[in-house]
Amino acid sequence: MVVETRSPEETFALGEKIGRTALPGQIYTLTGDLGVGKTVLTQGVAAGLGIREAVSSPTFTIVQVYEEGRLPFYHFDVYRIGDIEEMEEIGYDDYFFGNGVCLIEWAELIADILPEEHISIKIEKDLSQGFDYRRITVEGLPDEGESERL
Ligand code: ADP
Ligand code: MG
Repeated sequence: MVVETRSPEETFALGEKIGRTALPGQIYTLTGDLGVGKTVLTQGVAAGLGIREAVSSPTFTIVQVYEEGRLPFYHFDVYRIGDIEEMEEIGYDDYFFGNGVCLIEWAELIADILPEEHISIKIEKDLSQGFDYRRITVEGLPDEGESERL
């Protein structure tokens, strides 16, 4: 499924729909260059899960845990990870194989331990379409119609 957005609000709204329909145990990966809107989309997902607390990028920790929503939300940013062992140290499998919703920024850096079953979200700019244009590709949502759910 491809969604095109033309403002941060539209990207937030897509995240919100994802958060509202997210299921326990799902793992979402989020890729895209710096400044493309990963945090905006993540904030939407958190809002859709019913989290009111402010969500930002977990710069100094690999994972930030939010428990106040409809489901636990585990927000990973593995950009600064040096070694997969750092994932072991935080006990990542409790998050990956638990009943919350995982969202992993820069997931390509931990491809070795990423479960095959996950939903990938890719955000891209296309400056020929304008400065605020984003092309967001979502792949791997459960069958029942990626388009119907969102
Ligand atoms: P990242 O987390 O990917 O580094 P951020 O979400 O922090 O990026 O920042 C994205 C920036 O792009 C914000 O300043 C936001 O206002 C701006 N922006 C402009 N258009 C869009 C859009 N369509 N979707 C998301 N963000 C947008
Ligand atoms: Mg960010």
